[in-house]
Amino acid sequence: MSRFGMSPKSPKIILTADETMMSKYRWGIFVGFSTCMPRGILPDWFYFSVWAPPVPRKNGRALYADFGLRIMEASLANVFGADEVAVVHPRDLKRVAGDRTEIIGIGGHDFLGINPPTSEFVDMLDTGPPYNRVKFFELLRNPVMREKIVVIGGKAAWQLADEEIMDRLNIDYVHLGEGEISVPEMFKAILEGEKLPRIIKGKEPAPDEIPNILGATIHGLVEIGRGCGRGCAFCTPNMQRLRYQSVAHIVRDVETNIKAGQRSICLHSEDVLRYGAKGIPPNEERVLELFRRVASVDGIKDIGTSHIALATAYHNPRLVEAVAEMCYSKVEDMNWLGAQTGIETGSARLIAKHMRGKVLPSPPERWREIVLQAFGILDDNNWICAATLINGLPDETTDDVIKSIELVEDLKKTSTLSLVVPMNFVSMRGSALDTEESFNIGKMTREHWQLMGECIDHDLRVVPRLLRMYRDNKGIKSWLLSFAATRMANALQKYVNKMRRGEPPTDRHEISKWLNPDIPDLRA
Ligand code: SF4
Repeated sequence: MSRFGMSPKSPKIILTADETMMSKYRWGIFVGFSTCMPRGILPDWFYFSVWAPPVPRKNGRALYADFGLRIMEASLANVFGADEVAVVHPRDLKRVAGDRTEIIGIGGHDFLGINPPTSEFVDMLDTGPPYNRVKFFELLRNPVMREKIVVIGGKAAWQLADEEIMDRLNIDYVHLGEGEISVPEMFKAILEGEKLPRIIKGKEPAPDEIPNILGATIHGLVEIGRGCGRGCAFCTPNMQRLRYQSVAHIVRDVETNIKAGQRSICLHSEDVLRYGAKGIPPNEERVLELFRRVASVDGIKDIGTSHIALATAYHNPRLVEAVAEMCYSKVEDMNWLGAQTGIETGSARLIAKHMRGKVLPSPPERWREIVLQAFGILDDNNWICAATLINGLPDETTDDVIKSIELVEDLKKTSTLSLVVPMNFVSMRGSALDTEESFNIGKMTREHWQLMGECIDHDLRVVPRLLRMYRDNKGIKSWLLSFAATRMANALQKYVNKMRRGEPPTDRHEISKWLNPDIPDLRA
């Protein structure tokens, strides 16, 4: 054994991610959004030691990891054996990568910090480059990378699928799309010395070709399905075919997390209320069966949901109530649920043009009513959401933005605890709008600023109420969260009134110099 208590035999394959993706974030999944933060708001030492400390590790292996890395670990272990694949925090790379290690696979959700909401935070706040970009380049600068074959994959792989960028960053291969079948095939070919194209597109696995995870995931995230089927034109998950895992498979992934000491599970799909559905109408029986079985796993203390569609909640209020009731009655001390959701716009015209399916089975004209009623239904069942709005959708007019402002004003009149997060449209490769231009601060009109001001004003009223929910925990953790949240809220407050009047918060009219990444040349 080595001095780290590991077998001296190094694994053939290491999987890793930049440091912002290798943290449990001290206060859970919502705080995990701060991976999108630019440098310069919180001191680096505070961010990486208190706010986003590294995941616990043992013998150089990360005990918790991003779900995408865990799925790749399991897929590769099926072919090469579990001893030959290790999921490793960047700080342990040097000690784990040995002579036998040949490939380092890097996963990521936003390598260059150009996806929403990172791009928007960076452009608006203009305090520095985004942490995810900083830490990704830092990872690639690790001397170990020069000695091994570097393969990039994950949701943001499209950002690096350009041979000039790959050359500058010493990246050997980029894998695009789903990897359960094609990543093991690709790694086998690399290890056998075959010559491959540098950019490879993945094959879509059937649900029974997706393996169970072998280790715990960050925030206990467990995938219950892929794809959406509502067809919004700006969206990339929409491009995946709609598929669901079996309840038995999901429960095994939940149990793996619970055995590793997790107590909170987050069920991930694009709309948890449509688990097991064949089209838009939910299959209530399957949804309730899923929650019943997950809530019955010994040791579980909290069930979260990653995404919910407002139209599904609006059209199925009894299902919302039944799921909440099931969770609160079966899981001791659980009394609220959380999810992300999309409002995107208050304009029925833009809904009809870009996301008609978002409203189904209703027509686009009902969207405003659906949003307001759905938040009411979710509030009544203690289901708290973080909802996105999109600025600068292609073909947007001033009137469309005014419709969004009016919708946020209406939401403010309710007592909803949900947050509204305005984001700028980003043209993402793989979406139906990937030839359109992205939106940025330089294109913002008076009305966009007003919308931004209304959203932040709403959120600044909600955040203190959400923070009070942490009051049960009177320890240092809740004090630190309040400290950081108050600091950020104060930083924003002074700009809110200006924005609500339609004035930009700064004299700056050009985009932030940090918005577009300078790709360093790491070849030297
Ligand atoms: S409802 Fe959400 S996940 Fe589904 S296509 Fe629209 S944006 Fe994408």
